Amino acid sequence: MITLEEVTVMTGVEYFYNDLWAKAKNLLKEDSSIGKLVYETYFEESNLVFLNEEKAIIAVPTNLQKMILSQKLHLIGTILSSILNHSVNCEVHLENDVVAPGITPIKEENEVVFDDDHVMPEYTFDNFIVGPSNKEAHSASLACAYTPGKFYTPLFIYGNSGLGKTHLLNSIGNYIKQNDPSKKVFYTSSTDFVTSVVNSIKDNSIEKFKEKMNHLDVLLMDDIQFIAGKEKSHEVFFNIFNELVNNKKQIVLTSDRNPSEIKGLEDRLISRFSSGLSVGMDSPEFETALAILKFRLEHQSVDTSTIDNEVLNYIATNFNKDVRKLEGALNRLLFYSINFSGSERIDFKVALAAFKGNSTSDKNELSANKIKRIVADYYGLTKQQLSSNTRTKNIATARHIAMYFCRKCLDLPFSKIGEEFGKRDHSTVMNACEKVERNSKSDINYKQALIEIEKLISN
Ligand code: ADP
Ligand code: MG
Repeated sequence: MITLEEVTVMTGVEYFYNDLWAKAKNLLKEDSSIGKLVYETYFEESNLVFLNEEKAIIAVPTNLQKMILSQKLHLIGTILSSILNHSVNCEVHLENDVVAPGITPIKEENEVVFDDDHVMPEYTFDNFIVGPSNKEAHSASLACAYTPGKFYTPLFIYGNSGLGKTHLLNSIGNYIKQNDPSKKVFYTSSTDFVTSVVNSIKDNSIEKFKEKMNHLDVLLMDDIQFIAGKEKSHEVFFNIFNELVNNKKQIVLTSDRNPSEIKGLEDRLISRFSSGLSVGMDSPEFETALAILKFRLEHQSVDTSTIDNEVLNYIATNFNKDVRKLEGALNRLLFYSINFSGSERIDFKVALAAFKGNSTSDKNELSANKIKRIVADYYGLTKQQLSSNTRTKNIATARHIAMYFCRKCLDLPFSKIGEEFGKRDHSTVMNACEKVERNSKSDINYKQALIEIEKLISN
């Protein structure tokens, strides 16, 4: 099991920049015009610290490194552009001189804008922890943030409550506002959207409302499922949606389920949503949950050395169904330890007392969801891939195994298991379970994998 010291907390933007710059560095290292020694002396310590549609800023610690890298700007630019698939100009600066670029917005006369963009400043990529469970949603969000309207519009992010959808949606808004303050960004929940439509119909300002919406560069709409069944709002939204998409503006939507599963949504909207990119989010894995806890503690200026590792491990294991639960558990622990424990150290005894009788712990709650998560983790996949239509061999194998354990450990009917895995019918599940049994008899490695997974499930 990973210990707290081994967890490197990496925030969203850092994660993306580091990943991108690591790829670029690998190519620079191999470039014959640089050579190993020059690379190690001057390039190794460099970092990518800023990126937008046109510009990348590289920071280095010393003047000499700055001088050498400046001579290779063209090469660095070419390499970064090839990874990003669009061209960027590069600048090299000393680490100490780097200030985030920001320009004061210039407001046009008679601009049709909302008074308030409703983007919540506290949610940024910088305080979003990335792990396998949210990696896809994070990277698609970042792609939309730094090239709005270029790649995926709409971007549709779905997942259960408390997994970080609202956080990502606002991160996109904040990133765009910082990089290009002239862009008109607007965040709204679909419930607020419905209220605005109803109110503006009442006071005869619906055309003005639509005009403001149609002038946006970026529309971020949260919890789109609540628009279902609201006919007038549907129609208004459909028109705005088409107008923005046709003008290559960025739309990002979130929902607690994927578009085709939202009941009461018109088919024409479902098909429009499906024309962009849909990405799912999962419950955080143990390591991600631990990293989030550590990040939260650091930001509340809590000295992590006063908390035993096993306490954080306990929370990361028992409250990781969603991030809101995780945060709630941490707050409860801190509240309890300050007010009732009388000891400076937060050890396992304090934790047990804090969570005594707390029914939110889902440690022993075995469910199809948990089985899917364990099997997906085991094969390095996401839970969504298990329910998808993909027939790639490793995904199909993992899917069959997860179905098999749902039958074996939960004794669920085949039809119910089928529903859990992307609406498959009962005979598909039956065949999958039989196949797993056959394979376990003929393939020793396969059998070993089943034993290991069963151990994880029963833990
Ligand atoms: P959702 O919209 O999916 O219901 P939220 O975005 O409201 O979830 O997230 C719930 C809480 O968890 C928020 O406080 C959010 O900041 C936090 N959170 C979620 N995911 C992460 C993450 N990966 N890193 C840091 N905080 C997160
Ligand atoms: Mg939300």
